[in-house]
Amino acid sequence: MEIKPNKCDFCGVCVGVCPEDAIELKEASISIIEERCTNCAKCVWCCPIEVLIFRKDKVQQLKAKSN
Ligand code: SF4
Ligand code: SF4
Repeated sequence: MEIKPNKCDFCGVCVGVCPEDAIELKEASISIIEERCTNCAKCVWCCPIEVLIFRKDKVQQLKAKSN
């Protein structure tokens, strides 16, 4: 999974959807906990502004911080 930088508005929808509790949302940053993520892509479909990108072969922990 990959997170597009500076796009997330931290609505928290993906955090509630992730069955593995693999998305960590802090005040102004969101990250995917690589060890927990199973690449199910549920977070990709639920994000209203298409911040998350599915990468089958590449599970990444990237942080997207607000400006
Ligand atoms: S791909 Fe699935 S397991 Fe990974 S962060 Fe998204 S919802 Fe969670
Ligand atoms: S990645 Fe999408 S669904 Fe998740 S907090 Fe950011 S804007 Fe909301």
